[in-house]
Amino acid sequence: MTLDADIIVVGGGIVGAACARALAATGQRVLVLDDRRGSATAAGMGHLVVMDDNPAELALSAYSLALWRQWMPQLDSTCAWHGCGTLWLASNEAEMQEAEKKQVRLHAAGVSCTLEGGAALAALEPSLRPGLFGALRVHQDAIVYAPNVARWLLEGPGTPATLQRRHASVVAIEEPHVRLADGTSLRARAVVLANGIHANTLCPGLPIRAKKGQLLITDRYPGTVHHQLVELGYVTSAHHATGPSVAFNVQPRPTGQLLIGSSREFDDTSVAMNFPLLEKMLRRAVAYLPALADCIATRCWTGVRAATPDSLPILGPHPSRPGLWLAVGHEGLGVTTGPASAQLLVAQMTGGPCPIDPTPYRAERFMTVCDHHDR
Ligand SMILES: Cc1cc2nc3c(=O)[nH]c(=O)nc-3n(C[C@H](O)[C@H](O)[C@H](O)COP(=O)(O)OP(=O)(O)OC[C@H]3O[C@@H](n4cnc5c(N)ncnc54)[C@H](O)[C@@H]3O)c2cc1C
Repeated sequence: MTLDADIIVVGGGIVGAACARALAATGQRVLVLDDRRGSATAAGMGHLVVMDDNPAELALSAYSLALWRQWMPQLDSTCAWHGCGTLWLASNEAEMQEAEKKQVRLHAAGVSCTLEGGAALAALEPSLRPGLFGALRVHQDAIVYAPNVARWLLEGPGTPATLQRRHASVVAIEEPHVRLADGTSLRARAVVLANGIHANTLCPGLPIRAKKGQLLITDRYPGTVHHQLVELGYVTSAHHATGPSVAFNVQPRPTGQLLIGSSREFDDTSVAMNFPLLEKMLRRAVAYLPALADCIATRCWTGVRAATPDSLPILGPHPSRPGLWLAVGHEGLGVTTGPASAQLLVAQMTGGPCPIDPTPYRAERFMTVCDHHDR
């Protein structure tokens, strides 16, 4: 029977696009299906940041940042790469001690970073409130405009001719077939599921939970902020919280606008704003960056992160469905970890050497919830 493609990728967000391009680069015919229902890639902040909540997260994000730096010279201007670095802000002595520990972990992973005292921090970012204790400055973190990077991956210069994309809604995966909303079926040797928060509708039983976030962007105030600014309490106040939470996170867009985050709410996939939570988020932002109080906001929006119980993505074969591969569950770090996720998936699909240990990201760690009987 003839194949419509060697590999079908469901989802053309940053993860699906990175996987598709990397798979096509091996000479295989790859077809990306996306119905443009909306994506975390378009809703997110696009901060490329090394995160170190655990060794597996550090390994994946540090490796991915290295891959991003390889892409960087090829990206077009619409991708809006800016190597601004990150300042992890310490507001007291205890947070400064956290900064020191973080520096040790990042150095061990080969990530360039320096501790800055209060005076040095004030010189780097004069708009911050006076009296902050200091910061950890991570030099090679960066920002991008992620939806344009996804587009560049799928149709920019250098895209392999074997990579095709189609506007189509997938309603079922019956490997080796993919059934579309118009009733037609497509056949491939393998299917890659990379459809973010919607993964469970096509592959029930995946342990993926919604973590909604809200962002707000201001008018143009060039020079107000020079680095991505994140409070060190972010990991405790937002990342590991079990209820709604906010943390200070501000990004200087290349346009001069200030992109303000961040919030987390569980199990809500609606697009509706939560204005009381937005107010809390903005109050926290103004507490760090008083100048924000006089800035004009131009837009606010929501997006949904697809979170797994251990906050690591699921990358590799489905444990009980041969021919179905998973690249899902990237939570709040999928723009950063998209390139590394793609390389790990390709290595496993082609039997090549894995650049980092793939074990922590494999679906088998959730075997009981990924069971075939859940289909
Ligand atoms: C508020 C917020 C801030 C964030 N900030 C950052 C950040 O600063 N740095 C960072 O690294 N990450 C950040 N993230 C996380 C990051 O955006 C995501 O992890 C990443 O974009 C996930 O990409 P994806 O390709 O897996 O999924 P998505 O981008 O959601 O793409 C899934 C695609 O699948 C398509 N699709 C879904 N179902 C179907 C179907 N049945 N048929 C056809 N197509 C389908 C959709 O149209 C969509 O295009 C943030 C996320 C949010 C919400």
